[in-house]
Amino acid sequence: MFLRRGALGGGAVLAAAGADFVLGAPASAVKAPSVAVTSSMGPTFPDSRLRETRVLWQARTDRRLVALTFDDGPQPDYTEGVIEVLRRYRVRATFNLVGRRIVAHPDLVGRELADRHELGNHTWRHANLPLESPARVREELQRTHDLIERLTGRPPRTLRPPYGNLSGDALKAAAELGYDVVGWSVKFHEDLFDAAGNAAYVAAHLAPGSVILAHDTGNRSRLQDLLALPALIEAARRQDYEFVTVSELLSA
Ligand SMILES: [Zn+2]
Repeated sequence: MFLRRGALGGGAVLAAAGADFVLGAPASAVKAPSVAVTSSMGPTFPDSRLRETRVLWQARTDRRLVALTFDDGPQPDYTEGVIEVLRRYRVRATFNLVGRRIVAHPDLVGRELADRHELGNHTWRHANLPLESPARVREELQRTHDLIERLTGRPPRTLRPPYGNLSGDALKAAAELGYDVVGWSVKFHEDLFDAAGNAAYVAAHLAPGSVILAHDTGNRSRLQDLLALPALIEAARRQDYEFVTVSELLSA
């Protein structure tokens, strides 16, 4: 590859994030960046693990496909209800899981798997990644990654960073794990609307390729996401939208 091991410092991260001016520059002209980011970035990727990470908030597609994503589970409060509604409507969704909750509620993950939902990485303990050390960022992603891979036989493909917050270290760890980082383009507003209002709001803001943020656990207001689900699914289908998993959406 173009990257000389150890030569670029943080430049490898820029390259991995798609800044091709780094890759395109003559080797002699490439200097190690003098900005402070390099010290926290760690070494460049070993050649065999060189990856790139895409950061997306929705998919680029003309097809009327959208993806429902549920963050923060699995938890006994609402996860089971969400699974039941999705099953009733034959909708497959993406659950972005908090690793330590998988340990506590593996049965719920088993049900998500049985219904062929996609499982994404939402860190080990719902960390606000920009506030964590590089080693901790890596650990937050790796532990959940390994656990999901052990449960499902395949590694997760996407990271949903808690709060949507990213850092250079988080991007680098995501690249090393081969992830796409997936935000959202439409979300429930539990603070503004009731369940019916949320269903109408989200349905009115869908577009081809939309990624919808919902939660299958949390405080009592999050119950709205579950209660709004039937009306949202019906409204979206009236607009000819089809629900797919995030990975399916990104490859559409
Ligand atoms: Zn979250």
